[in-house]
Amino acid sequence: MSANTNKKLDSDIKTRMSVLFEVLGGTVDLKVADGLEVTCAADGSVIAQLATDSKKTVDQKAATARKAQKIWCMKSRVQRVALVEALSAAIKEHREPLATLITLEVGKTLKEAYTEVDGSADILAKTIKDVSLPEFGGMLRAKERPPVGIVGLITSFNFPLVVANWNMGAALVAGNAVLWKPSEKTPLVALGYKCVFDKVAGGNSDLLQMIVGKRDVGEALVASEEVDMVSATGSVAMGKGIKATLSKKYNKGVKHILELGGNNGVIITEKTSRPHREWAINALLTSFLGTSGQRCTNTRRVFIHRSVYDEVCEYFKIKLDTFIASGAIQNPLSGESNEYGYGPLIDRDAFRRFEHAKHRVEMEGGLTVLGTRLLQAEYPNAYYVEPALSFLPSQTAIMLEETFAPILYLVPYDGEVEVAAALVNAPANAGLVSAIYTQNQEEADCFAHLSEAGHVLINSPKGTGTPAYGMGFGGNKDSGEGEILNSCDPLQAFTRDGHFTRIAQNKDIVMDVV
Ligand code: NAD
Repeated sequence: MSANTNKKLDSDIKTRMSVLFEVLGGTVDLKVADGLEVTCAADGSVIAQLATDSKKTVDQKAATARKAQKIWCMKSRVQRVALVEALSAAIKEHREPLATLITLEVGKTLKEAYTEVDGSADILAKTIKDVSLPEFGGMLRAKERPPVGIVGLITSFNFPLVVANWNMGAALVAGNAVLWKPSEKTPLVALGYKCVFDKVAGGNSDLLQMIVGKRDVGEALVASEEVDMVSATGSVAMGKGIKATLSKKYNKGVKHILELGGNNGVIITEKTSRPHREWAINALLTSFLGTSGQRCTNTRRVFIHRSVYDEVCEYFKIKLDTFIASGAIQNPLSGESNEYGYGPLIDRDAFRRFEHAKHRVEMEGGLTVLGTRLLQAEYPNAYYVEPALSFLPSQTAIMLEETFAPILYLVPYDGEVEVAAALVNAPANAGLVSAIYTQNQEEADCFAHLSEAGHVLINSPKGTGTPAYGMGFGGNKDSGEGEILNSCDPLQAFTRDGHFTRIAQNKDIVMDVV
């Protein structure tokens, strides 16, 4: 550990962290010499140094998980569902410490952090609902396909809890064990979750193994011959890396689900009244500003019919000026929140990418307003920025990339909706969400058919913030691959093809103590 790091370790936060883990009922060594440094996005201090995994420990943990999984997959569906049900309840019970960990690590406002914790509990409850067939003649019924075995779960920093739970419920009910590698930027929330899991799972706690480390550790997890399936959420680059690793495995047919980056485009057509356009801009602000531009579903590009372009740009600017002037961009640890869930960027790399994108806009003939760094004197190692608006005459190269930061590109288009749809579809990573604001049904229908995104929204009240709940989540093109998570049959994703059994059990006869 460097002397510099020592200086940065903030004793208040460290004490707070220990207390949080105590409340969660587990122990984690938060100060391992030369361990992985975890930084608090809200104030830039180092809040933990964690032991990391290696190829060897990944294989060892996989072997431990395998033993547990062999017992687990022999349990009845009722027992497996009971564990996930208890996990959902336990998350709700530990709402406060889990949300606090999210705020500390990711810098989300507490309100947003609570929403994520609640969403995690809800998605587990929904998974149970989706896998349960209605009772029939006093019989509990279930459809069983064989589990894949060991699921390697890799997650991104921006939704450190909920993304894991999209997978966890279905993976466990299907009879699998999970090796979870959270983002190296947010391992503490995941370790906190593991404490809760262990309490609930009791003798089955080995079913969830935590893998801590950076990209190399993720690669070791994917490469391990012990891992039967990979479900990974992250950037398009991560997806490509994982596919390259999988292609070298002995078992090249390893099942995989990739939930990757998006570059979400929106159209505002001329077939809109002024009040509708203003309503649309307010809707788009929620999906532009959410988590400070660090969501896969953020709105990144807006194509506006030239006849209303100036007016729309002006209104966007007025709204952002008002937001910034309100002083709402604050350290979330102060307890302050704002309607958009806007806080700091995750780290210096994110800030550099934001600055780079602004520079590229200029080089490519555009103009950026706002986007100034804030609170630098108070927090030299944390990265607060004003959201930035970039006006470009046409879609340029920088717009084809996903800059995971609050920069919104506004571009005019001429002609019909087909022209704008082609612009929305142009980037290879535009496969996640798209939206259109129009008061003309033909335009809406036309765009719905032309859009290449996995989710197409028409006059959405929350911009590109997708209402995926109940529809399943997944992207097309470079934005995703594999089964859709949380579709109407969530177990499909975590089971093997082939053998299929239908089980009916008399619920009035107690066969086992769950
Ligand atoms: P990232 O790609 O940098 O890292 C994600 C995870 O993958 C981390 O745990 C990382 O250690 C691991 N990783 C990276 N390269 C790897 C490799 N070659 N092999 C194995 N593991 C590897 O992403 P991030 O910065 O944490 O998150 C932001 C990205 O995630 C954005 O692109 C965002 O759009 C995307 N995202 C997508 C969804 C979705 O559902 N489609 C949801 C959330 C975030």
